[in-house]
Amino acid sequence: MSVTESRRRRLAAAIAALDLDALLVTRLVNVRYLTGFTGSNGALLLHSDGRVVLATDGRYTEQAQQQAPDLSVRTDRNVVGALAKGASGRLGFEEHDLTVSAYDALHEQLADSSTELRRSGQLVESLRQHKDEDEVATLARAAAVADQALADCLPRIRPGVTEAEVARALEDRMRDLGAEAPAFDTIVASGPNGAMPHHGAADRPLATGDLVTIDFGARVDGYHSDMTRTIALGPVAAWQQELYDLVREAQRQGRRALAVGAETRAVDAAARAVIEAAGHGANYPHGLGHGVGLEIHEAPMIGSTSTATLDEAVPVTVEPGVYLPGRGGCRIEDTLVVRADGPELLTTTTKDLLVL
Ligand code: ZN
Ligand code: ZN
Repeated sequence: MSVTESRRRRLAAAIAALDLDALLVTRLVNVRYLTGFTGSNGALLLHSDGRVVLATDGRYTEQAQQQAPDLSVRTDRNVVGALAKGASGRLGFEEHDLTVSAYDALHEQLADSSTELRRSGQLVESLRQHKDEDEVATLARAAAVADQALADCLPRIRPGVTEAEVARALEDRMRDLGAEAPAFDTIVASGPNGAMPHHGAADRPLATGDLVTIDFGARVDGYHSDMTRTIALGPVAAWQQELYDLVREAQRQGRRALAVGAETRAVDAAARAVIEAAGHGANYPHGLGHGVGLEIHEAPMIGSTSTATLDEAVPVTVEPGVYLPGRGGCRIEDTLVVRADGPELLTTTTKDLLVL
């Protein structure tokens, strides 16, 4: 059985358990997960008895047949409408994806039929949390590309070079090393810009005495790695070393809390307690981490209000940070896989403070 077929079987069981007769999958990343199809227009109708139809438009018919050779492919510009014609009974749909106008059109199309629309929740996203070993291996390759790119670019990170130049060097190097693209727009936040957790990469030249937060990753075969390191352009001031040591300890406690069965809220709390104890709770305005895979941010979210429980083979990030307005900031992030015998670290660049 192919990987995608076993995923569809698990989904069919979940559909049946929800008392649905079929599920209309419209989120492209979910269509990809379930079929291997990577085109920009496609949807999938999956019946609880296992029957499956993939729809796409004429631009992608051949690609769909190649990428999903075991599926019947319907060609129609209106992929949702074409699939809905084949539905009956209770039809689940991805309410977090379907636009209001697409929903209205679907509702109107089904008005005179016995098909009943039902919100299905994030069923496929929930299946996607647990990765098979091929997916973990692909994530590990994406992480290795990012590790190597940073090592290769360290000599170019020096006073006078702009944030944007550092970002471009890293992204070019990741492509050279086999990434299909950066996992997201690289963040290089130097000096006072480091106080903004999601600063991009601007034309500020790096300066002696800066902390430089670099948050980046590679996309390999659709899978995203995510890593942050904060580097010092020496000499390191006492407050900078203290900040770094604090965030590093919080990140270590967060990693240690990753375990099969752990509540994500508790993992967040393990790291947050370290930062709060140092009086910096208010300077840490985001969650501890997130799942990674076909999307850079996916389930499970690890935050103070998240309610998920971690499972074996779930890749997540651990990325606490402390941001001091006007002065700078520090964030340290790894991508790891939750394992029964302790988390598996995918991003292996040192967490000792690199002083350049
Ligand atoms: Zn990141
Ligand atoms: Zn992240």
